[in-house]
Order: sequence, then C-alpha cells, then structure tokens
Amino acid sequence: MKEYIKSRPKPTNGHQLGTFLQCKRKAWLNYFGHEALKADTPPHQQHLMDEGLRFEDDIFEMYYPEAYEVKGDNFAIRKALTLDAMRRGEPVILQAQLGDGTTTVGVADILILEDTDEQLPLGHAYSLGEVKHSAQVAVSHLTQLLWYASMLAVDQQKTYDHSFVIIKNKEQIKVQLTEVRGIYEECLEGLLPLRDLSWEELGEQHPIVYKKSCNKCQWRYACIPELMQQENHLSVIPLLNAHHIMALKAENVNGPTALLQAPAQLFANIGFSFLEYRRLIFQVQTYHRLGFGFKEKIQSLYFGSLTPFVLDYDDQEPERPIALRTAEKTIPLEMTAYPEFVGRWIGYGLDALRLQQWTKGWSDDQIEVVNLAEVIEKQLFGLFPGYALNELYYFFQQQISIEQLVLDPDKDLDRLEKLNFLIQTIEEALHD
Ligand code: SF4
Repeated sequence: MKEYIKSRPKPTNGHQLGTFLQCKRKAWLNYFGHEALKADTPPHQQHLMDEGLRFEDDIFEMYYPEAYEVKGDNFAIRKALTLDAMRRGEPVILQAQLGDGTTTVGVADILILEDTDEQLPLGHAYSLGEVKHSAQVAVSHLTQLLWYASMLAVDQQKTYDHSFVIIKNKEQIKVQLTEVRGIYEECLEGLLPLRDLSWEELGEQHPIVYKKSCNKCQWRYACIPELMQQENHLSVIPLLNAHHIMALKAENVNGPTALLQAPAQLFANIGFSFLEYRRLIFQVQTYHRLGFGFKEKIQSLYFGSLTPFVLDYDDQEPERPIALRTAEKTIPLEMTAYPEFVGRWIGYGLDALRLQQWTKGWSDDQIEVVNLAEVIEKQLFGLFPGYALNELYYFFQQQISIEQLVLDPDKDLDRLEKLNFLIQTIEEALHD
C-alpha cells in the first residue's frame, strides 16, 4: 500500500473540511493518496455528478449571463486572471481561483462586488456565493464558504460575513458565515495536523471504521480489503449504532460470530426489544452466511415480474443508446417503439436512469423501471468493494480480492449476464 502514498500532501481545498467531518482517513487519503489508488466512480454516480455540473452552468446562465468567468489551463493562469478581474472591479466573477496553490486552494463559484476603495490592495472587495445541487444548505457548504473567505481575505484584505447558496430549486438562500465559525475552526484544528501524519501514524490514530459511505468512497480499495480480513467490523450491521457497538465490545462481542453466540439478555440490557433482537439475529445470520444481508426483507417475488434489460450504445457516440436488449429480444430505441415498453423493467445504474428519464410521463401505470443499483444501495448491506456492476458481480460471484477484481479478464462478461447473475443471487438469498 505504501507505494500508493505520496510523500507531500496536496493543498487543502474547501471540500476537505466537510470530508474531515465525514471520515478522517478519507481527508488524509485526499492529501496523500496516489491517483492510481482511487476506485472508479460507477457510471450512474458519475452521471449524477455531471448533472450537478450542468446545473451550475444553468444557474450561471440564468442569474449571471453577463458575468466574467475565469478559465485557464493551470492554477497560475486562473489565479492571475482572477486578480486582474478583481482589480478591474468586475461586478460578478465566476469560478474565481483562490489560495496560494501550494498549501491552500479553492474555486469560488461566485464573487459579488461589494466595495470600491483605493485603500484596498486590489481597489475592490468581494463577497461570496456558491451553487449546490442539493435540496438544502448543509454545514459542509458553509465551512467551504468560510474556507474561501479566508483565502479571499489574503488577496483583498477584507471579509464579509454575509454570503448565499443557490440550491437545487434555484432559490438563493442568504447565510451568515459566523454561525458556523466554531465548527469551522474546530475542523481546521483537526484537519491541518493530518498533513503531518505518516501512513503508520494514520493507522494508529484513525483506524478504519466502516460507515455507510465506505462502499461509495473513492478510497474504498485502501480500506475495504483490510476490513474484510478483520472479524471485528460490527459497524457493517445496520441495526447497530456506535453506542451498541461500544456496549457489545465491552462484553467482548467483537464480530458477527461472537454476536451470534452472545446471550439474548445482553441485547435486552442495551435496549433491544425482543422483536428488534430477532431482526438483528436474522441480519447477522444472513450476513455471516452470505457476506451480505438485507436491511429490510425484500418481497421474495420482487424480481419475478421484472424483465432484466441493458441498453446498447452507439459505437461512434458512446453516450447515445440505440437499443434495449433482453434475453429474448432487442428493441431498437426509437420513440415510436412506445408500445414495446409497456411492462416492468429492471436495469442497472446508468441504463436504468436513462430508461427512467425516457419513459418519464409516458404512462405511469403501464411502465415501471427499477434500478437494481438503487435497490442494492438501499436494501442490502455488506463490505461491498463498491456499487459498480463489475464490483458487485465479482463480490457476489466469489468474494474475490480487489487484485483479482482488477486483473481478472472475465470482467468483460456481458452486462446482461452480470445483471441476471446479481438478480439470481439476491433472489436465492431471499429464499434461503
Ligand atoms: S473507505 Fe470508508 S474508512 Fe476508508 S477512507 Fe473511505 S470513508 Fe473513510
């Protein structure tokens, strides 16, 4: 693993504060992890991220069509363009490059001109705004704004407490940055010393603790294989919270095997009702046997009336689906093919997202498109190596190691076959 660790940390960016709140190891790996260690983002998650970027462009177009936008190939160019724009007193600057580029960095979505004063080093001073493709303003958005404000203060020698965030419904929410200053400073106090920690010290001070976000984390290949080798990962069981885990560990119940052997009274003592205890035992038994379990029991006939499908894409235009394929037939994708779509369909990730978008508003009660990726994410739990179709296929197939996942040539197996295999495996587990 050490060959994937850089000797010098990357500059601190605005996302690091939110990441620090979520997982200290992740913040450390963001500083020191080599690109080659990063797991791929599954196409359906990438699609959602791209939607966020398109949203940002739409907002810029809608609110600031005349604004100056900073564009450049590298940090030095973008920084120089930003400072020039500030000197000129541009009323609105988009994608402003902040920081020194070595230890600090950040790109502020929106700068709004507040003051013109020749006493100021740049002659002008700006307040900040952000665009977020989320339903509401989160604490991490505000800590990010405070980080930008601290870097902006270095350039313009002035700060403003008022700021705003434009959220998913395109509403502009006014915020006061002082409201989160306490959390921000606490985060910064914990975050910056991570830059001095070695890989070994990280392991001692911040051991891996499984959390829901691990299966989606870009550094999961640095953590999940190690967790798989430990027995003491009770944190994977959804019904157990941190308080339960501490209480169980105090009684030497450190992993699923020990948990199954522990007396029922122990669970009553930590607040489980009899029903909750039975559900917990069911979850742990399934997990122990299969390597994954169900958060909620899915109806065993759930998949029975769904038709698995994949979309085939144009060789020249890989973004453009040209046909829908099932085990029985291939349907060319033209809007005139509407009647062919009546029924219940199940696809994976991007295929399902695309068909959902296409058929949206056609006829609610005649077409249903289920995304297996969502079903797995919401209903199943386990130390999955990730939620990409490939990763889950290999996990369900043989629980192989990450190295095999990367190297095994069979990973090119047809997506429809993998999808069917996943459905079959989950169905079998439901009947067990
Ligand atoms: S996989 Fe989990 S523990 Fe590891 S860095 Fe990511 S969130 Fe943190």
